[in-house]
Amino acid sequence: MATWRLPFLRRALLLSSPPPPFFHLSSFSSPLHHSHFKRTFLQCSSLSVEESTSSTTIQPEIPKAGRNSTWKPMCLYYTQGKCTKMDDVLHLEKFCHSCSVELGESISGLKNLREQEFDYFLVLDLEGKVEILEFPVLLFDVKTMDVVDAFHRFVRPTKMSERRIYEYIEGKYGSFGVDRVWHDTAIKFEEVIEQFEIWLRKERDGHIKKLWREEGDGRLNRAAFVTCGNWDLKTKVPQQCEVSGIKLPPYFMEWINLKDIYLNFYERRAPGMLSMMRELRIPPLGSHHLGIDDSKNIARVLRHLLTDGALLQITARRADASPERVRFLFQNRIK
Ligand SMILES: [Zn+2]
Repeated sequence: MATWRLPFLRRALLLSSPPPPFFHLSSFSSPLHHSHFKRTFLQCSSLSVEESTSSTTIQPEIPKAGRNSTWKPMCLYYTQGKCTKMDDVLHLEKFCHSCSVELGESISGLKNLREQEFDYFLVLDLEGKVEILEFPVLLFDVKTMDVVDAFHRFVRPTKMSERRIYEYIEGKYGSFGVDRVWHDTAIKFEEVIEQFEIWLRKERDGHIKKLWREEGDGRLNRAAFVTCGNWDLKTKVPQQCEVSGIKLPPYFMEWINLKDIYLNFYERRAPGMLSMMRELRIPPLGSHHLGIDDSKNIARVLRHLLTDGALLQITARRADASPERVRFLFQNRIK
C-alpha cells in the first residue's frame, strides 16, 4: 500500500477548497472507475443540535476543523489499495488520499504526554450486524500522534443470498452513496484476514519492528487494538470467524475499550463515540456508521486522550485456556 506521506498529495489537499460548513446532502461523481462512486455527507444531526443547546454553559467554540477544514471524503478505492487515479489532479482534489486524523495542531509543546506501554494502536471499528461488512483498521503511531497507515476492506457475507446482500448493502451504505464501491471491492472475511496478516507483517519505522509476533505467541508486538465498546472484538469477530469457518486469530485476544479509558481518566461516562467527541469538543467528520470514517473519529478521540495524559492499557482479555471467557481488567467500566 502506498505511503500516506507524499508531499505532492499534501499540497493537493492544502490547495483544495474547504467543504461547506456542516456538510449538507450533496453528491458528486467522477469519470472512469469512480463513475458511480458518490458520497453523501451526513453531518451528525444529533451532535449539531446538542452543540447548540449546550451553549448556555460552555462557550460554543466549535473547533476549526468542523467549519473550515480541508476535509473531503476518503477515496474508498485508495483505502483498499485499489485507486487507479493517483495521477488525476481532479480526483485528488475531490477525494482524500490520506488517513491522517486531520486535526493539525503540533504535538511539540504538549506537556501532558506520558510514556505508553504501546508504540502503536490499531483503531478498529467494524460495520455490519448480521455479518461483518467493513473491516477498517487505522495504525496510530504514538510517536507522531497520527495515523500512519491503514488497512481497510469491505467484506462480503458468506451465508446470504445475492439478493439479500444487495438489499443489506443498499440499506446500510446506500444513504452514504458508497454501495457501488462496496460491490466493486468487497471480499470474503477469510480473505480479509489473510490480507490483514500480510499488512501486519509489513516492516515499519525503517527497521524490523513488526506489529505481530507471528512466530511467537501470535499476539501483537507493542501494539494493541483500540475499539469504542467491547462489541467488535468480544462479540462480532468471534461470531464471524465461526460463520466463516476460521479459528479466532490470537491477536484478537485482547483490546482496549476507549470508553473505559475515557471513564477512568476523565471520571465521566460517555456511552458512545459521539458523546465522547461532544464532551471533548471534537467535531465528527465524515459519515457516521461508515467504518473508515468512524475509525478516524475514534482516532481523534484517542489522540485527545493521549495528549491529555491518559495511559492506554488493555481493558479486556480472553483466557488462554478458554477463549470464550473474557476478563475485564478495569473495575470501573461501561457495561
Ligand atoms: Zn482515489
